[in-house]
Amino acid sequence: MRRLTVLLLALAMLAGLTACGMEPADPNTAQESIQVIAMDTVMTFSIYGEKSTHAVYAAEDEVRRLEGLLSRTDPESDVSRLNAAPAGEAVTVSEDTRSLLEMARFYAMMTEGAFDCTLAPVSSAWGFTEESFRVPSRTELDGLLQHVGWEKFQLPEGQNLTASHDEGVEIDLGGIAKGYVTDVIAGILEENHVPRATISLGGNVLVWGDRPDGTPWRVGIQDPARADAADGYAGFLSLTDAFAVTSGSYQRYFEEDGQRYHHIIDPATGCPADSGLTSVTVVEKRERDANSNILGSGTECDALSTALFVMGEEKALEFWRTERESRQMSFDLVLVTEDGRVVVTDGIADVFTPDETSGYAYETVS
Ligand code: ADP
Ligand code: MG
Repeated sequence: MRRLTVLLLALAMLAGLTACGMEPADPNTAQESIQVIAMDTVMTFSIYGEKSTHAVYAAEDEVRRLEGLLSRTDPESDVSRLNAAPAGEAVTVSEDTRSLLEMARFYAMMTEGAFDCTLAPVSSAWGFTEESFRVPSRTELDGLLQHVGWEKFQLPEGQNLTASHDEGVEIDLGGIAKGYVTDVIAGILEENHVPRATISLGGNVLVWGDRPDGTPWRVGIQDPARADAADGYAGFLSLTDAFAVTSGSYQRYFEEDGQRYHHIIDPATGCPADSGLTSVTVVEKRERDANSNILGSGTECDALSTALFVMGEEKALEFWRTERESRQMSFDLVLVTEDGRVVVTDGIADVFTPDETSGYAYETVS
């Protein structure tokens, strides 16, 4: 693995034992927390319950395994092998990679191309992959955009674990991979009957159950204008059993000649999306329906946060309303705009608390 992976902190609370080492601890409050640096971000897993120790390390193992499959910089990864393959050659990938590619294609179609993992050559031209930033010329971008689009990527039907692509096509699952990881971790929490947990992968958060005192978890939405301040928030969400995923122009960017260039690309232009938004947070409840089907998806929240950032306020809200009516996807939004507003959709208005010190004007939309 190319990246330095460090275990920063392991709170070695001995599960099942109290401080004096004699009496069993309350399984609901036994807690294990670790930080993991992977997928270009700092992850924090804080898991409660009898099997908390097992669950945090199982989650870490899954992160390492998935990073090994999905990394764009590890030459051995499924994604790198696929990108390096000649046009038309079928490359065998793992089940996870194949299903994530299918989901990426699905969200590309759902969002009419606002979310597009075939933007890889364009992201690379801006230097976001290797962190060697530069501003490509219009001619260069137009040339690269010829190779962008899901119709240039093939996923044969059936059990076949292969994928192939046209000449010059490359993929980058960075806009969806962390969301997928949170879905996999949710599975681990369920398997281990974890009563409560918080899972944070940079801008991708999963809160599980409630807090030990019975109140909801509080998820802070970072204020894009105060991204450097540890306590600069645009507001807070009180959530149980939910995914909350933020995409923002403040998360990864470089500056040249006084102009800021961020990492979320508008597939229509090949340039950083200039949509009037500074961040988009997508929230979905994670629960099971009467037929035991899982509702809510970290993958979906991640894909949508990127896509709706590209769309901008008006189109994003239109998309939200259409999906709410068709009941295809059930999510809510917090949008932070360049002109100083925070727009909250009404499904989460009652669990959203503004940060009054932030100076934003707050609006609820329905
Ligand atoms: P982050 O990875 O910072 O949490 P996002 O989920 O919004 O933020 O993903 C941004 C990443 O997705 C970029 O770094 C790039 O790899 C990729 N990307 C950029 N623009 C798009 C897009 N329009 N559609 C799909 N992926 C994108
Ligand atoms: Mg995303």
